Amino acid sequence: GGHRLATAFAAKVWHVETDCLFCKIVAKEIPATIVYETERTLAFRDINPQAPTHVLVIPKGHYRDAAALAAADDGLADEVIKTAHAVAVQEGVHESGYRLVFNTGPGAGQTVFHVHAHVLGGRDLGWPPG
Ligand code: IMP
Repeated sequence: GGHRLATAFAAKVWHVETDCLFCKIVAKEIPATIVYETERTLAFRDINPQAPTHVLVIPKGHYRDAAALAAADDGLADEVIKTAHAVAVQEGVHESGYRLVFNTGPGAGQTVFHVHAHVLGGRDLGWPPG
């Protein structure tokens, strides 16, 4: 007996920012190549890939940067990192190594102000990054 949710991803409410590119991807208003999804996160291919694997992982809700995501303090930052690792496994780059990058602030090259983890792999990754 008992009831079960009909779908894995029941209707959820999260903060949507008007005119945010990645909020529009979450809302399916802009197309993206989605490679992985959880209840609160979405992973899709970067439109301008810098490595054979270049996937962006975002929380579906809007947070402007990694600091704002961490401040939410509700396990969502963990979920983003777990999704990033699941993407690396799915892409087959977890054994050779992959890089997670949160560009935070314009001075660090952040251009889209909906927090995203870059998952980069599939080639030798130099250090320090550019
Ligand atoms: P940031 O410079 O860390 O903010 O990274 C933004 C990333 O978003 C860049 O790597 C862009 O190539 C990527 N990007 C911008 N627009 C789109 C899009 O519409 N789909 C997928 N990736 C995008």
